[in-house]
Amino acid sequence: MSRIKQFKSQTRDLIHRGFDRHIKLAVTGLSGAGKTALITGVLEQLLYANESQNLPYFNVRQHQRLIGCRLHTSPNWDTPRFDYEKAIERLTGTPGQWPESTRDVSEIRLELKYHPERGLAGKVLDERRLTVDIIDYPGEWLLDLPLLSLTYEQWSKKQRTLFSTEPRKELAEAWLHQLNDLTAVATDDNAEKQIKVVAKAYRQYLADCKEQGLKLLQPGRLVLPGELAGTPSLDFFPWPLEQPVPDAWQSLLERKFEYYKEQVVKPFYQNYFRHFNRQLILVDVLSALEGGESYFDELKLALNEIMQSFNYGQNSLLRRLFSPQIDKVSFVVTKADSVVPSDHAKLTGLINALTLEGRQQLQFERIPFDLFSVAGVATSQWKQLKNGTNVLEGIDQSGELVRVGAPHVPGRLPTREDWQQGYVYPHFQPNFTLADSPLPHIRLDKLLNSVIGDKLR
Ligand code: GDP
Repeated sequence: MSRIKQFKSQTRDLIHRGFDRHIKLAVTGLSGAGKTALITGVLEQLLYANESQNLPYFNVRQHQRLIGCRLHTSPNWDTPRFDYEKAIERLTGTPGQWPESTRDVSEIRLELKYHPERGLAGKVLDERRLTVDIIDYPGEWLLDLPLLSLTYEQWSKKQRTLFSTEPRKELAEAWLHQLNDLTAVATDDNAEKQIKVVAKAYRQYLADCKEQGLKLLQPGRLVLPGELAGTPSLDFFPWPLEQPVPDAWQSLLERKFEYYKEQVVKPFYQNYFRHFNRQLILVDVLSALEGGESYFDELKLALNEIMQSFNYGQNSLLRRLFSPQIDKVSFVVTKADSVVPSDHAKLTGLINALTLEGRQQLQFERIPFDLFSVAGVATSQWKQLKNGTNVLEGIDQSGELVRVGAPHVPGRLPTREDWQQGYVYPHFQPNFTLADSPLPHIRLDKLLNSVIGDKLR
């Protein structure tokens, strides 16, 4: 390269670096909300954006300003990389399978190159870059934030009310039994061993609750431990009885609780959460409807707890401890391909109603938010029969192609009578080959435009 050319190229690189922008897009939601599928879908749409005919609302693509998008080397060697390739392998395998769900934090970096919109920058530069880190983490971890302001005793008292109501009451029987047996023989020298046994029973109880579809499960790492699996940091539990904790156990349980707050909860907020710029909160409204009234109510409670992590009021614990910088939150109902398109707006209406209280704080703090109903990977085809009936076609769990009538979606929060009728939705399976990339989706273009579009101008 001639020296002049080299100089020009270096100058251009410098200018580009100056304009380089970087965004940390975090994706969360409770287990099964669809995080892995959605991130895979988002990566598909971005990596194949220029080949896609299905991104009409992603402006940078629609206005043919996107030059390209590629995966970049991992930004953070301490954090596992989001396994996009494995997810695609499963989705396009024979038979097709859904990718493995999120169990820990993971991250993946993308780089987008694009032409800026008209204006000064457009005249000076021919291209710009945006780096996007997508971070996937379990929403259960956000349920731990309230622990930071509680003592072990206060936390136990709060939890106690939960154990006394069904379906938890029945599910808690085994661990309470275990606990009663061991408290009777608690001594200083076997305290650690005994607590470990009861903690194991408590984790099993949380796992059973999760299996049943319950959402408000604390502490989050006892449900989804990530890298802490098997470590003694998770050997504790709330005290469920009115009678006091045996002397032999008291100090150890309190210390474990404090350790968890300091060494597990706080580092997550400090090392990850504090750096996020944009947050997607995914919600599986359809499974909650299928689960019935108590599960739906529990989802609402859990979402409100989760939203405390976005309460940045001047005096909030979060702001004082971590100075977070999220400037936009999107609530996303997933799996919209399980209902017909004319019902998508109802899904958005339901998430609106479910998050109303928690969102007031966002409004107050002027953190913009929006609501979407999407499918990260769309597995059904919507058809309208000659008689006007809406149907969905897709592959069912036994591998058969099936056609189902439009499943009923309530247009408002269900009433007692609505719950009596119940709700059922199809569970379609992926059925793709590699040639189908970019895999079909619903409304990811609108979502992308909202969460990164402003950085691509
Ligand atoms: P995660 O626990 O939040 O990572 O959730 P996943 O992404 O693993 O999704 C959990 C399950 O929900 C999947 O195994 C699928 O059965 C279903 N699912 C997720 N995304 C979609 C989607 O876009 N459409 C449909 N029909 N089902 C989905």
